Amino acid sequence: MADGAAGFAAVQPHLRNRLTSLFGHRVADDRCPFVANLYRHPTEAEFSGALAFLETHFTFVTLDAVVAHFRDGRPLPDYPLFLSFDDGFRNAVERIAPVLRAAGVPATFFLTEGAVDNRDLFYGLRRSYLIDRLGSQSGSHAAGLRDALQTVSVHTHEGRRTVDAAACVLEIDWQAVLAAERPFLSREEGRSLREMGFGLGAHGVTHRRLAELDDAARTREVAASVAFMRDAFGLDRVAFAFPHGDRGVDARWMAERLAADPHLSLFFGTGGYAPSGRFMVHRVALDRSLEDDGPFDIAALIAGAFSRAAAKYGIHTQSTG
Ligand SMILES: [Zn+2]
Repeated sequence: MADGAAGFAAVQPHLRNRLTSLFGHRVADDRCPFVANLYRHPTEAEFSGALAFLETHFTFVTLDAVVAHFRDGRPLPDYPLFLSFDDGFRNAVERIAPVLRAAGVPATFFLTEGAVDNRDLFYGLRRSYLIDRLGSQSGSHAAGLRDALQTVSVHTHEGRRTVDAAACVLEIDWQAVLAAERPFLSREEGRSLREMGFGLGAHGVTHRRLAELDDAARTREVAASVAFMRDAFGLDRVAFAFPHGDRGVDARWMAERLAADPHLSLFFGTGGYAPSGRFMVHRVALDRSLEDDGPFDIAALIAGAFSRAAAKYGIHTQSTG
């Protein structure tokens, strides 16, 4: 923590009346082929260390408190912190929930409909898995395919076709992979998170980036995702976290959706400490890029994210007071 301590001390006063919102995906010591080529997530020791730091410096708040604050103007405690995890990995019930429960820390899990019960594997995770498989093969053909996968974007038709072509060459049956590996939690496991007191939210049906879709398709994706979460987990109002972030999605569309759908409570994005408001709460990523192989330092991570936003938006733009 030493490196980040000074940076954190400098930004700490600004976090008293401003929500700090963090999101991750997995907390694990083992290497997961579905994400190993996408990002670096905290190990169990790193997460426990981060949690101890956060408990010292912040007050954890629930999803309900965050919604009540941004939609209805209810106050939040000083140094509020909202913790969330996206995608619905089985890791959430096996590793994350037990640690949070033992510490008495609330958190929210945003689930993708297609992932629940291991019915579908999103393209980003397919890409990582294929890169892993190709890594163990020699020959120029494998190397060429691996290079192609490493450079494509799964947000384009062409990129998804490349992923499909590589899976075909490697004779990958995704349903068999899902059945064998079970990377995601089941509906029952999702319900158990709710019974343990954790918040649940929506994270799309297909995990497509919503900026790729036109307004009508985007509206359908969010409505279907919210309907699924209500039906599967008995939620009344559902918060929605944008898969792959909110960049490119019009704020006016968000405002219209929230006004039109009484069961949709709030959007969550990935803009770090970008100003949050009545429609959108931004979050800071716990995961790091693959190139960042230094020690995990939560104090430095928060200080860095706040400093970037302060430079971009101005430091006194917004508060929860
Ligand atoms: Zn996601």
